[in-house]
This record gives sequence, C-alpha cells and structure tokens, in this order.
Amino acid sequence: MSLRFEHETQPQRVLFGSGSAAANVADEVERLGATAVMVIASETERAFTDRLAADIPVALRYSDIVMHVPVEVADRARAAAAEHGVDVLLCIGGGSTTGLAKAIALTTGLPIIAVPTTYAGSEATNVWGLTDGGMKTTGVDARVLPRVIVYDAALTVSLPVPISVASGLNALAHCVDSMWAPRADPIDAALAAEGIRALAAGLPRIADDPTGLPGREETLIGAYVSAVAFASAGSGLHHKICHVLGGMGLPHAPTHAVVLPYVLALNAPDAPAAADRIARAFGSETALAGLQALRRRLDAPRALRDYGFDEARIPAAVEAILPVVPDTNPAEVTARDLHRLLHDAWEGADPR
Ligand code: NAD
Repeated sequence: MSLRFEHETQPQRVLFGSGSAAANVADEVERLGATAVMVIASETERAFTDRLAADIPVALRYSDIVMHVPVEVADRARAAAAEHGVDVLLCIGGGSTTGLAKAIALTTGLPIIAVPTTYAGSEATNVWGLTDGGMKTTGVDARVLPRVIVYDAALTVSLPVPISVASGLNALAHCVDSMWAPRADPIDAALAAEGIRALAAGLPRIADDPTGLPGREETLIGAYVSAVAFASAGSGLHHKICHVLGGMGLPHAPTHAVVLPYVLALNAPDAPAAADRIARAFGSETALAGLQALRRRLDAPRALRDYGFDEARIPAAVEAILPVVPDTNPAEVTARDLHRLLHDAWEGADPR
C-alpha cells in the first residue's frame, strides 16, 4: 500500500537564545500590542520573573499554580484575568505554569507568550488539561497553543538535576509515544528520532555540569521537537497510562520517567521499524537497551511506589486505562498486560 497521511504543523513563533529572554519577551509583548500583561509564574521563579517583567506593561502577577490544573484553580485565575482587563498571558515556568495559562486561554482566547523552564514541552502543543475530583480531562483547542515560545537555557540552570532528569525523560516519552500514537506519521517519527538523539546527548551533560549551557540548550531543543512530534501524533499508550496515574495524584514527570521502559518493552516486539529507529537514535543495539543505559547514567526515577502510588490502586488504574488504549497500539493490550505492567512499574522491576 502506498504511503498516505495528513500532517498539521502548529503555527508558532519560536525564539531561542540563552540570556535573551527579557529582550525577546519585551519585543513579543510589543509585537502583540499588549497593554495589560498577566505574568504567571510561581514564587520559585521569582528572581528571573522580575527581570522578564521589568520592561513590559504588567497588569497582574499571578502565582497560584497547582500541577494538573484543578478546575477551581483555573476558575480563580480566569476571574483574576477578567478583573484586571488582561490582554496577553505571559507564563514563565514548567508545564504546570503553562497549563494554567492554557486554562485561561481556553475560555478567553487570550494569546500566550510561553517561557518554559522545564522540558515538559507543553508550550509546543495545543493540548490543555484540567483536573476535577481525581479525574484528569484533556482536550485539544487551537486557542491554548502559545503564540510565541521564548526559550532561554539560562533560565533552566536552576532546575535541580533530579527534576531535570525526570522532565527530560518526560520529553523522551513524547518521542517514543510519537512513533506509534494514533496520528503518528513519518514527519513525527523524524522529529521524535531527533528528539531522542538530542535528549540522550543533552541530559548526561546536565547531570555532569548542571549549570553549563550546552547541555541545557541541547535538552531544550530536544524537548521542543519532542513536543512538536507529540502534538501531531497524539497520545499513545504511554500517555494514556500516565494520564490516568496523574489524575490519581502522581507527579507528572517522574511518573513518565518510571513508566516509559515498561511501555517500550511491551510495544517494541510488535513495532520493529519504530524500535529500530529508536535504537538508532540512541546509538544502541536495541531501543530498550538504549533507554535503560540512559536511565542508569542519569539515575532516573525507578518505581511508582517511590512517588506515593499504592499497590492496591492498580486494579482501579487498569480499569480506567483499558477502555482508552488506542486502537493503533502496536501490541494488543489486555487487562492482564496492564496489571503486570503497572505492578512492575510500581515495584521498579526489570521491564519484560
Ligand atoms: P512543574 O511545572 O510542576 O515543575 C516542576 C517543579 O520544578 C516545580 O516545583 C517548579 O516550581 C520547579 N521549577 C520549574 N522551573 C524551574 C527552574 N528553572 N528552576 C528551579 N525550579 C524550577 O512540572 P512539569 O513537569 O514541567 O509540568 C507538569 C505539568 O505539565 C503537568 O500538569 C502535565 O500534565 C503538564 N504537561 C502538559 C503538556 C501538554 O501538552 N499539555 C505536556 C507536558 C506536560
């Protein structure tokens, strides 16, 4: 059969430059004609937020940020934006901060300038997420895609190595899942392969030299291309699993970091071309060997039980995941497979 696919590229401006964030943000605020900017950033990011906000018309600074964006947190932020007549959202931080800006944009259509400080990649997707009573809902909407991304690796040197590692493996999960997600196409695969290469090169450099810019820059570019691939390919099995676990209260990046080898071990035998591509991107004999070698090198998160996941919740997680397993998943997936996968991930067993 001949090759057929539909690919959509998300319209975004991307500005990359270490040490250039403040100037780039000021230019972009002007370009958008903003007069009342809502600066969304947590207190952790206060020092560089002050610098980035210095030359722009700030209407409101906002720091009530919670991972996975509970609906009540979103509602408070939307009300604050309306009260202050905000016309542009500037978010500076990780995926949780970007997620709050997206929640506001979803109902207001306000443009977002995103300044990412982790490797989550949310800034490059049109996917939003909200949590309500332990259930995480995600959706796709053009309004939540940031108009502009301002990347500055100098803003990421303060990200502690363990968080950098977990976040970088979250980006790597975007790449792996993009090989077989429902809308995966050859463009996504090419971006994902480059993402794996860049992340596998950049992350060890961060571990060795956390304040050095070259490793941070390489990882940041890797995170961007991973997210671009993911935005196009959609959520594969790995993201479906992590999505359910996230709704159950598990932390986003470490959960992705733990679960990824188990999904790769499950799917690789039924997706030989993708597995070969992943292996080549790692420069390794097999896809799993490449991932595991990187994980060992980085002392990556190992077990879900280390992040507060109770073994007794595995059946509930299986029940929630089974109906959302994508039809396109290379391996057929039964409740028994999911139970085994989650149990192995819970205790940090070797993937099989
Ligand atoms: P996060 O945003 O919660 O950040 C993790 C921690 O790192 C926080 O404590 C934060 O304050 C700290 N931090 C961030 N930047 C820092 C810096 N430069 N220096 C020091 N500390 C810093 O976590 P995350 O993993 O970036 O994002 C997770 C969230 O993003 C989840 O809610 C997830 O669902 C969402 N997400 C969404 C998409 C999407 O496409 N919609 C993609 C990926 C992640």
